[in-house]
Amino acid sequence: ASDYNYAEALQKSIYFYEAQRSGPLPDNNRVEWRGDSGLQDGADVGHDLTGGWYDAGDHVKFGFPMAATATMLAWSVYEYREGYEQAGQLDEILDNIRWATDYFMKAHTAPNELWGQVGNGTADHNWWGPAEVMPMERPAYKIDANNPGSDLAGETAAALAASSIIFRDSDPAYADKLLRHAKELYDFADQYRGKYSDSITDARQFYNSWSGYADELSWGGVWLYLATEDEAYLDKAIAASELWGTNQQGEWDYKWTHAWDDKHYGAQLLLARITEDPRFIRSVEKNIEFWTTGVQGTGERVTYTPGGLAHLDQWGVLRYAANQAFLAFVYSDWVDDPAKQLNARSFAERQILYMLGDNPRNSSYVVGFGNNPPQRPHHRTSHGSWADSQNVPDYHRHILYGALVGGPTATDSYTDSISDYVSNEVAIDYNAGFTGALARMMILHGQGQQPLPSFPAPEEREDEMFVEASVNASGSNFVEIRALLNNRSGWPARASEEMSFRYYVDLSEAVEAGYGPEDITVTAGGYNQGAAVSQLQPHDTARHIYYTTVDFTGTRIYPGGQSAYRKEVQFRITAPLNTSFWDNTNDFSFQGLAPQGASPIKTPYIPVFDAGQHVFGELP
Ligand code: BGC
Ligand code: CA
Repeated sequence: ASDYNYAEALQKSIYFYEAQRSGPLPDNNRVEWRGDSGLQDGADVGHDLTGGWYDAGDHVKFGFPMAATATMLAWSVYEYREGYEQAGQLDEILDNIRWATDYFMKAHTAPNELWGQVGNGTADHNWWGPAEVMPMERPAYKIDANNPGSDLAGETAAALAASSIIFRDSDPAYADKLLRHAKELYDFADQYRGKYSDSITDARQFYNSWSGYADELSWGGVWLYLATEDEAYLDKAIAASELWGTNQQGEWDYKWTHAWDDKHYGAQLLLARITEDPRFIRSVEKNIEFWTTGVQGTGERVTYTPGGLAHLDQWGVLRYAANQAFLAFVYSDWVDDPAKQLNARSFAERQILYMLGDNPRNSSYVVGFGNNPPQRPHHRTSHGSWADSQNVPDYHRHILYGALVGGPTATDSYTDSISDYVSNEVAIDYNAGFTGALARMMILHGQGQQPLPSFPAPEEREDEMFVEASVNASGSNFVEIRALLNNRSGWPARASEEMSFRYYVDLSEAVEAGYGPEDITVTAGGYNQGAAVSQLQPHDTARHIYYTTVDFTGTRIYPGGQSAYRKEVQFRITAPLNTSFWDNTNDFSFQGLAPQGASPIKTPYIPVFDAGQHVFGELP
């Protein structure tokens, strides 16, 4: 196996969750291109539902996969805490899990009420821009006693219960609070049974509850049992297994893996370990066999690519292999038989190595890590478009370090395309099992490895706010400028209603001809998308330098669409009729303008101000 730096891989994989944060960001935010966003979440229903994670390359907060992700991450700390410790990443993983658990507790607004989605899938997906300037409404959706969701409530209970265990030593008060919410949510799930996607119907198109809720009743029950040692939860977990999905032979499914929908895979593994009941053990082993040697007796086996990737399903293929790798690690660390240990562990290592670069393309599938990693993931905020377009710009402005992309085809081929959400999206659930498996790899192979010391390196910033301008018309006593005030901000993206710029003129020739600034008029005309122009103000009277302020205050300019990111104004500076002293050539702001008839070009000689602050260009 190649020698990857697992501490670095873990560091980056965790950082990805920081890049997915919604809500007001804390001071220790490491992602310089992220800012506060989704600050009105919940306002439509009178609750504070800010916080949590954006799901993937989009900005919906889908509670179901979010909870599944948090549980998976907490599970991995439960199993492999020392891996995180060795990599110097324990605080980071705990901090990022807490980001989600804080949100779940906020969203749990009454014993039998849980807000399970913020943002409408279609409205969100129809727009391509950074989270900080989302223009669409973000409705909140809930489950309650009349509109239940045992899968959503059960998974959220699992997330909170698992987290209570890993926070128990460092913050017992927080652990208690997590556990209180977990118990209430589990009771709600258990007493009011139903599929959440029958209640939150907008989720059907995106995260339909295919496997139903019995698996989450077991999963939540297992974690509550582990958190409380109360056998009643274990009994409930076992009882719900009678309702898990089965094939035609009446066996529990074994041809998939633990993922955002079906949790019976994780539940049966923990139940096997806790109870040693052969039914659970055999089901776990069939699943392991399916992914490795082929199922005993039938030979059924997952498809393998020629390069060695277990290829379950194209959409997010690596996430399934990563989740199964994590399960295989947990299994291998529990099972006694050395041959079974080795088989499961080799599988898990092989899959993770494939993702890091041991594959026919010799390329990493983790953004910003290893050799030839993906550069064009299907991810709105890291792309940083200002024009609501996947094609503008034709590169990503930010590096989404640590994100595991969807992954290659069944023949190991892959195209790094921004538009491909099947093979090239990233998602919180994709990185979950992957992070846990990396923690195990750290323990196995990471002795002495260190995370990157100053991570992330600062990005090279582009000009964010500037004017593009051309001469629109000129005559013996006037000049007319066409100016486009741009907001292409991306570090982070931000809207402004207080942008302005200044155009500087030199009136030496006017003074020589016996005129002064009071004789000159400035007018906005022709085309104007919201600017007010001032008459000439003194800048340096000794040098006869004056300027007009062209002020878009009250007009929202933001990097969120063709007509949103820049506003145009045509303005004219006119000397009295029948004079001919007017001369543009000595005017500071006339330098570098595109000539009449040409497209406006960016100029540093028309300085830009945002809320009174000079943000771009030069002053004379
Ligand atoms: C979104 C993706 C989503 C896909 C399928 C796209 O428009 O950008 O985030 O996975 O639709 O729902
Ligand atoms: Ca389920």
